[in-house]
Amino acid sequence: MKRALLFDIDGTLILTGGAGARALDRAFKYLYGLDYVMEKIHPHGKTDPEIVREIFNRSLGRDPSHAEMERALDFYVYFLKFEVQYALKFRVLPGVKELLDRLQKYDEFIEGLATGNVRNGARVKLSRPGLWQYFKFGGFGSDSENRKEILISAIERARRLSGNSVKGLIIGDTPRDVYAAHQAGLPVLAVATSTYTVDELKKAGADFILPDLSNIDEAFEVLRSF
Ligand SMILES: [Mg+2]
Repeated sequence: MKRALLFDIDGTLILTGGAGARALDRAFKYLYGLDYVMEKIHPHGKTDPEIVREIFNRSLGRDPSHAEMERALDFYVYFLKFEVQYALKFRVLPGVKELLDRLQKYDEFIEGLATGNVRNGARVKLSRPGLWQYFKFGGFGSDSENRKEILISAIERARRLSGNSVKGLIIGDTPRDVYAAHQAGLPVLAVATSTYTVDELKKAGADFILPDLSNIDEAFEVLRSF
């Protein structure tokens, strides 16, 4: 049975140095003349459509229509290309590249994404450091607003891709990753590389926890053990 590894993006593989928030600010400035809509929003672990809905509710006092949601996300991705390209604090998190390189050598793994980013946004963010090519499939914020549904889409694609049954593991950095994974019946490796500490991730119920992925051997052992 293949092991499908489903990686979150922001805070797990990379930090964009605020590029995502700036792109949303610019999209809402362009479309609605609003200033700094992201100032009061905590995006950690939320899906792109959830964040857009929250902006609409806070700044415009209503939900977006389906067309408004699509348009806001399109303009977000448009501005994201520039923001990611020029983000000074953009970085790949420790061990990520080395771990992905090692995983590619083993047939038992298939590497995918499970992210709240819309697919085009995920591609923009992961293309800058050359990481997009590592992932053969994924579940995205463009599949659903709900993180649990995104994980289910990802695991279904993994099954189709491997033509067989698969075991899935979520790798993420927030309690939201943990809750969604457990709702979808999947175990989680949580990494404390962004906003949340090892203790907070433990409290959320993560099955495995690492401070980051810099110890490749240790991370590899976890990925083989679930
Ligand atoms: Mg994250």
